[in-house]
Amino acid sequence: MMTFYSLGNLHKLPQYNKLSEEAKTALKVVGSVLPFRVNNYVTENLIDWDNFEKDPIYRLTFVEREMLSENQFQKMKSIIEDSHSTQRDINETANSIRRELNPHPSGQLTTNIPSFEGKPVPGVQHKYRETVLIFPSQAQQCHSYCTFCFRWAQFVGDPELKFSTNREMQFLDYISSHKEVSDVLITGGDPMIMQAKGLSQYILPFLEKGMEHIKNIRIGSKSLTYWPYRFTHDKDSEEVLSLFRLVKKRGKHLSFMAHINHPQEMKTKEFEEAVCKILETGATIRTQSPLIRRINDSSEIWSDMWKKQVKLGMIPYYMFVERDTGPKHFFELPLSQALKIYQEAIRNVSGLARTARGPSMSAYPGKVCVDGVVNVHGKKVFVLSLLQARSPELVKRPFFAEYDGDAKWLTDLRPAFADRFPFE
Ligand SMILES: *Cc1c(COP(=O)(O)O)cnc(C)c1O
Ligand code: SF4
Repeated sequence: MMTFYSLGNLHKLPQYNKLSEEAKTALKVVGSVLPFRVNNYVTENLIDWDNFEKDPIYRLTFVEREMLSENQFQKMKSIIEDSHSTQRDINETANSIRRELNPHPSGQLTTNIPSFEGKPVPGVQHKYRETVLIFPSQAQQCHSYCTFCFRWAQFVGDPELKFSTNREMQFLDYISSHKEVSDVLITGGDPMIMQAKGLSQYILPFLEKGMEHIKNIRIGSKSLTYWPYRFTHDKDSEEVLSLFRLVKKRGKHLSFMAHINHPQEMKTKEFEEAVCKILETGATIRTQSPLIRRINDSSEIWSDMWKKQVKLGMIPYYMFVERDTGPKHFFELPLSQALKIYQEAIRNVSGLARTARGPSMSAYPGKVCVDGVVNVHGKKVFVLSLLQARSPELVKRPFFAEYDGDAKWLTDLRPAFADRFPFE
């Protein structure tokens, strides 16, 4: 049985007494602004409570004080502690802080939403030619929330900050009329939060007539590490696996895009069992994660993670740079350091794990990869390329930016040997 712990019932957490007073206050204050929820599988199996303050999975799931600026933290704390505050006062303060945190980076809310017959299609994004992202309305939550999540705005209950599919499922008309699309990526939140029946409504239509152009169905999920029972012991686990088998049987590819941030998430036998179950259906598992300060910012962590994934039959796919939203100041690393970690990690694994690409920024023009640092005629520059672009002709064409050891995002970079970047 899954038990969620969040602000309302945190005192029921069996390890509650291990938390320091500071940690409890931070949870109360920051958890009123940013999503906070963790389940009993994570708290019982993944976190080392004797050393929780340094534990990567604690840091991954329990919000901390420094995620807000000192100013924001004090403002929220005084509203919460003031006995005259109403729930409305608390919500208003929380919302005003949320708006300061760039809730929809890279024009997500407006620029990637396609239209069909003149009207915007609810719940999808179509940024790159081949792939449409689908956000099922029932999947706008997760088995636990990650502190660094770039989709945090979808989970805090402000309808302005949400997008998801509507009952009419108009996105199906859109996709069936766009023959250039070969992949659909069902995402969230976490699609595996849905019952098998709910999930099948988003998969079965792509196995029907009129959808021959859809070759690959991807599911983006963190359930393998946050709730592996989804594939082993839940009531409808077998139904989920049958659905995966059916995709294969109909000649299509199901790629499970597993989100794994740290090797410690892969240490349980439940996890390994879940991986086996998925692979037995004929699906593949690809893995991805951002690089997160204090959680996975060392090359050993990444090479250990990739080695173990390959051994279990998974395919390392992307290393991302922490995005320009939410509490990014707390989690981000300079691009120069991200590159170092990537290079050291990739050198330490066999070719089978060198399928992992990165460090990559999902920015407005596309996925921008930092490929290296070189000296050209005495000038130190970053070599960059687009792994994905709004304009496909820009993909994999190298370009340069002036080296800046502190730059953390594309917008911190200036072009080198040119007046502008190729996508400008
Ligand atoms: C990353 C991403 C995709 C998928 O890109 P692939 O390189 O094919 O994995 C699709 N749409 C958006 C908006 C993305 O950020
Ligand atoms: S599981 Fe994914 S979508 Fe959900 S909180 Fe974590 S990073 Fe965000």
